[in-house]
Amino acid sequence: MRQKSMLIPTLRTVGAEAEMASHRLMLRAGMIRQLAAGVYTYLPLGYRSLAKVEQIVREEMDRIGAQELLLPALNPAELWQETGRWENYGAELVKLKDRHDRDFLLGPTHEEVITDLLRNEVNSYKKLPLSLYQIQTKFRDERRPRSGLLRGREFLMKDAYSFHADRDSLDATYKDMYEAYHRIFERCGLDFRAVEADAGAIGGKGTHEFMVMADSGEDTLALCEACDYAANLEMAEAKREEETAVQPAGDIPAPEKAVTPKASTIEEVARFLDVKPIQVVKSLLFVADEEPVLVLVRGDHDVNDVKVKNVLDATVCELADEETVRRVTGAPTGYAGPIGLKEDVKILADHAVKGMAEAVVGANENEHHLLHVVPGRDFEPQYADLRNVQEGDRCPRCGSRIRFARGIEVGHVFKLGTRYSEAMRATFLDQNGKEQPYIMGCYGIGVSRVVAAIIEQHHDDNGILWPLNVAPFQVHLIAVNMKNEEQAKLAEDLYAQLQQAGIEVLFDDRQERAGVKFKDADLIGIPLRITVGGKASEGLVEYKFRRNGESGDLVAGELLSQLP
Ligand code: ATP
Ligand code: MG
Ligand code: MG
Ligand code: MG
Repeated sequence: MRQKSMLIPTLRTVGAEAEMASHRLMLRAGMIRQLAAGVYTYLPLGYRSLAKVEQIVREEMDRIGAQELLLPALNPAELWQETGRWENYGAELVKLKDRHDRDFLLGPTHEEVITDLLRNEVNSYKKLPLSLYQIQTKFRDERRPRSGLLRGREFLMKDAYSFHADRDSLDATYKDMYEAYHRIFERCGLDFRAVEADAGAIGGKGTHEFMVMADSGEDTLALCEACDYAANLEMAEAKREEETAVQPAGDIPAPEKAVTPKASTIEEVARFLDVKPIQVVKSLLFVADEEPVLVLVRGDHDVNDVKVKNVLDATVCELADEETVRRVTGAPTGYAGPIGLKEDVKILADHAVKGMAEAVVGANENEHHLLHVVPGRDFEPQYADLRNVQEGDRCPRCGSRIRFARGIEVGHVFKLGTRYSEAMRATFLDQNGKEQPYIMGCYGIGVSRVVAAIIEQHHDDNGILWPLNVAPFQVHLIAVNMKNEEQAKLAEDLYAQLQQAGIEVLFDDRQERAGVKFKDADLIGIPLRITVGGKASEGLVEYKFRRNGESGDLVAGELLSQLP
């Protein structure tokens, strides 16, 4: 492409409100422009990199047999009322009305829509497993949309959903996705870690986040120095502030029947109940004899303290004082009695993990209350678990030291179980002709966030240092002086040759000063620069790698054969 005719409005400076390097550099390099807070236009250069990331994601999804489709962004409220998320999703949900005063929303994620599709179109185990994905614009009215593409209110996401007849099948697809995510982020040139989003004592392995290591990241990770243990502490300032706002916790809160107390922080609920929030329990929802049960494990993980409650329809349960819980939550209780035995817990755990919930218990002398339950895809139990973890503490897995690091969440994989299929009565007939809810998984990647995360990791004082796979162009061809006939001719010649060889080349054919051209080239950050300048008369051009500055002369005629 010819730079003269391309829309690349580079800037020397940007306003101080652009704090993140990726935000500043994408504005300066003429890749994006802001339309409203958290809403961006991708200019041609930005769109090329976005498309590259998108294509990598697509190839790796296709490779594991996921099928691409495209779901509507405009969703009728009724679907979301079925799962309770119309009410419970929180302030991030973008709601609107049509001309007939009917309620709609702009999808922040698509579990409801895809589950609705499946319940209408797939009724037999013979069609399962099935993995479907889309790459689509999502809408979330984020509280702090000020980090450029890292946190948009409109952003591009790849979301995949898998449907299964049994747990083993879900486990197999989850593993495929997990490995595909590794390939995707490697191909994007990212330094990343897969982090257990459930650092629980039993069960676990139900969800992982993919975190790009960057000091500018919002998330704090606890990493083991010796083994591969890694957990997300979610201690970011912004998150803490969000947490103290009175709204349902978690991005994907409970289905309608699961009653969540109005307050969202442990402290608030504790104050309401007049108890001390001293104990943190982990809970796991299991299927035992087809009955969902919530197992609460106290913070000290003494399994002899484990109690099990019936939680029909995944509602709330409590530990001791039923009356208080009913008053707070209105939830049906019904004590199933203590299990007490380690063996029982193990057996339950072996009965495939169905889903998870976070629960916090406060104690007031002898009483225990369940204060807070947050079922849902996006719960992060390790938050409660690791809240007090300090740098230098022992790794829960191998006993070595824990260190902290910052990260950016670029992907999230999650075993949903039957949470959505049950709420929406989405079933299939199994081998025995029996109706069963689908067992589901969901898998997200923030495609536009990935572009920004790449820049967070790959830049210097002068601009971006694109990894080749995601660079908007592979070669930046610069004619120092287009008025010089010899230079112009050689440059045009090379431009044609490179294009013919299928190389993506940006040709700076502008009538600008050399200094301006080089500054822009550094800013835009295309990996290899070929400069046609004074030595054109000797048939020589200069090559320079943006990343390490390595440079030298090349015989112009040998350029193609010399390319790395
Ligand atoms: P975060 O913790 O950063 O708010 P999330 O946990 O709410 O993200 P998910 O619901 O897991 O996000 O969505 C899947 C992926 O979509 C995330 O891993 C992230 O990469 C991306 N994503 C989420 N919110 C945004 C946003 N506002 N802007 C850009 N990408 C986003
Ligand atoms: Mg979020
Ligand atoms: Mg998150
Ligand atoms: Mg997430």
